[in-house]
Amino acid sequence: MKRIELHEIGEQGFDAHGDVDAETCEALLGDESMGYVWAQTGHYSVYLTRVKDAVRAVGNASFFLKTSCSRCLTEVAVPIENSIDVTLFAQGHEPVASSPDGELLEEDMGVSCYDNDTVDLEALLREELLLCLPMASLCREDCAGLCLECGNNNNERPCGCHKPVDPRFSVLTTLVQTDTP
Ligand SMILES: [Zn+2]
Ligand SMILES: [Zn+2]
Repeated sequence: MKRIELHEIGEQGFDAHGDVDAETCEALLGDESMGYVWAQTGHYSVYLTRVKDAVRAVGNASFFLKTSCSRCLTEVAVPIENSIDVTLFAQGHEPVASSPDGELLEEDMGVSCYDNDTVDLEALLREELLLCLPMASLCREDCAGLCLECGNNNNERPCGCHKPVDPRFSVLTTLVQTDTP
């Protein structure tokens, strides 16, 4: 994906857009995919403008991913629509946030940085995408999951592994079996 040098961002700004195909998506997810993979082509559109020494990136990106349901392992489609509004400062020149511990609240502030007078669009989109990945995905809110004993998908049909057994009846069953010649 294109790196944009600051001098390319003129008075009119710089329009960067493109498809999120399988290859791009894989590069963005990298080692932190958490089980998410590309499902179909998405799109990103980011408009860069210079604000003094900073660069503001405004736009949106759509990612169409898939993963396995956290409970039953069925494939789940995970569409992600994300609006982008990030201000990038030169590395080492980020504004200091006034949080009690003096730490820079990058995620909250929509602040990032650029290095060597170059905006790394791929890094920007990666940050955005990874922030949007759900911690867990379910095929449906009330997914019944898999039976731990037989592996049956409990959404499809009951498997009978967990019929509650009344202790009195289990004694009867034993008696009947003993009496049978
Ligand atoms: Zn499920
Ligand atoms: Zn079962």
